[in-house]
Amino acid sequence: MSQHINHFNEEALYQTLKSYYGYSSFRPLQKEIITHVANGGDALVLMPTGGGKSLCYQIPALLMEGMAVVISPLISLMKDQVDGLRANGIAAAAINSNNDEQENRRIMGQCFRGQIKLLYISPERIITDKDSVLSQLKISLFAIDEAHCISQWGHDFRPEYTQLSCIKRQFKGVPILALTATADKVTKEDILQQLEIPEAKQFISSFDRPNLSLEVKRGLSAREKERALLDLIRRHPEESGIVYCLARKTTESLAANLQRAGIPAKAYHATMSAAERTQVQDDFINDRIQVVCATIAFGMGIDKSNIRFVVHYNLPKSIESFYQEIGRGGRDGLPCETVLFYNFGDIITLRHFAEESGQKVINQARLNRMQEYAEAQVCRRRILLNYFGELSECHCGNCDVCSNPPELFDGTEYAQMALSAIKRTNQSAGIKLVIEILKGTLSREIFANRYEQLPTFGVGIDLSYREWNDYLLQMLQMGLFEIDYKDFHHLKTTSLGEAVLHGRKKIQLARISHESIAAKRKNKRSTAIEPTIPVPPPVGTLPKEPSLIPRPVIPPDNLGTPLKESAPRVHAKAVPEEDNGLYEKLRQLRLRLAQQEKMPPYIIFSDKTLHELAIYKPKTIAQFGAIYGVGDLKRDKYGPAFVDAIREHDGM
Ligand code: ADP
Ligand code: ZN
Repeated sequence: MSQHINHFNEEALYQTLKSYYGYSSFRPLQKEIITHVANGGDALVLMPTGGGKSLCYQIPALLMEGMAVVISPLISLMKDQVDGLRANGIAAAAINSNNDEQENRRIMGQCFRGQIKLLYISPERIITDKDSVLSQLKISLFAIDEAHCISQWGHDFRPEYTQLSCIKRQFKGVPILALTATADKVTKEDILQQLEIPEAKQFISSFDRPNLSLEVKRGLSAREKERALLDLIRRHPEESGIVYCLARKTTESLAANLQRAGIPAKAYHATMSAAERTQVQDDFINDRIQVVCATIAFGMGIDKSNIRFVVHYNLPKSIESFYQEIGRGGRDGLPCETVLFYNFGDIITLRHFAEESGQKVINQARLNRMQEYAEAQVCRRRILLNYFGELSECHCGNCDVCSNPPELFDGTEYAQMALSAIKRTNQSAGIKLVIEILKGTLSREIFANRYEQLPTFGVGIDLSYREWNDYLLQMLQMGLFEIDYKDFHHLKTTSLGEAVLHGRKKIQLARISHESIAAKRKNKRSTAIEPTIPVPPPVGTLPKEPSLIPRPVIPPDNLGTPLKESAPRVHAKAVPEEDNGLYEKLRQLRLRLAQQEKMPPYIIFSDKTLHELAIYKPKTIAQFGAIYGVGDLKRDKYGPAFVDAIREHDGM
């Protein structure tokens, strides 16, 4: 082990971070992990998606002697990573079944000549190559990405992963770093045991993603959902987003409707051909389409950093899937809006799935937790964090409950109306019919059953359909009635419901809110996150907001000074003025460069870098080089074009 010690010092860490990546501070735990691994220690890293796992093995790889081997289950992810590394001037390559053998041999040649610092490889390949090629190379470390794939308990089990125990035995003394965004206790133990690294140090970071806003919209009709979705997309012109739907049919009809409304959208689901799916994914990554309407088949293998909204058009089946899906948004740390639509139909469909699944009890329990989240009256982030075992009493300020606390009122009378309607139908009506009775709607079904003669008919006329839908969901969640899945989804009162109906118990309902957090935002582009760069703003463009958190200023030519780790960027409000016109010009410039280089735009620069350019307007290459996300290679390669564009915009 001692061979690794002192190959670097703290200064070298920050130098590497700035000169290759253009960042000036580490995210929580990154520095500790990098130091531990570069000193030869094994590690298990649990970080949420977008937490910054890649740097934890890439920086040690750059600092240590030899070549790092990264095992990754998805070819598309490998390609993205390798493209990103090369764009930053780091020698990386991938060996996998997508390359022809000649290409793979060429890369191996480069490895032997010491020209590669990071080699990405599929698990199958490592098993076949470990005795031949790899054994002759100097390997600095092994990184095992998506390490939960090793566990049969996880949801992405990969049989090839279970053979990776050979690594520790064959490459003694070479550190192993296992990384994942999803691991409960069992999976964690499985990873350590199967990789034969029981002593590995565990680094578990907070699963909070403060830049994701959380909002639930309950009880909307199909048409209202579509209108709400359009409003949301229009708040994000030219910005990418995903809409997750439960059914394949919905993805298609929704994408068609969005297209009709002039929004570049496509559907994505598992029954499309592989070629069609790759095409959609490619179009999305390269900003050729704005919105993907997808089933949960979409997303694994998408590293796109600038997804600005994630919508769940239907209730997801568990909090795990929900969190993983919204986690694909805002990887660059900028705000991402997430909205969950939730209504009665979803519960019926999902309950059905749970009933039919092999693991009925578990799946129902998962669904219940998801439903509790959707019905929450306390900070939604608190519920998520508690769910993942992080005890928290936060009041995040970035969810709909925090920004619009529910107003509770005595809902006993409404509950009695609803329960009485349910009973008067002899418990043989579904949700829609019950609402029709309450609202006094003269429909065919009402007449067919003579419900217009019930004393309850029309007692709830004062409330809208949406309000009844919402309140009934709350009553269901409280357990006042149940949905009988064996009897055409008819509603059945419970003993608790009887108690309320007969006045033995009172209940409270949360008044339905009409205002969304997003609607409160005035300027969509300068929301929530403070800029992190320490560029001295040119005279005349000083930030106007006096409350900007003071930050140390590094002169552009002296970037070696290590900065303190930045405080977690929690919902800072103060943001200096951004030149929106300039942002748009820079975005177009990035798009042109990306097309020339046949690369996704976010690989050239992240949205965050563009925003900071549009705030600080660097007028020299040195100032440009100090911007967030501009490393040495990108400074020299793109500096002239961007600085010219900025100068021209400012009439210089
Ligand atoms: P993960 O693999 O955990 O999902 P990534 O490693 O892809 O996350 O990192 C997410 C994003 O955050 C990337 O765009 C990455 O460049 C950026 N990032 C990582 N570490 C830092 C840092 N210390 N400062 C600024 N940005 C960072
Ligand atoms: Zn909150």
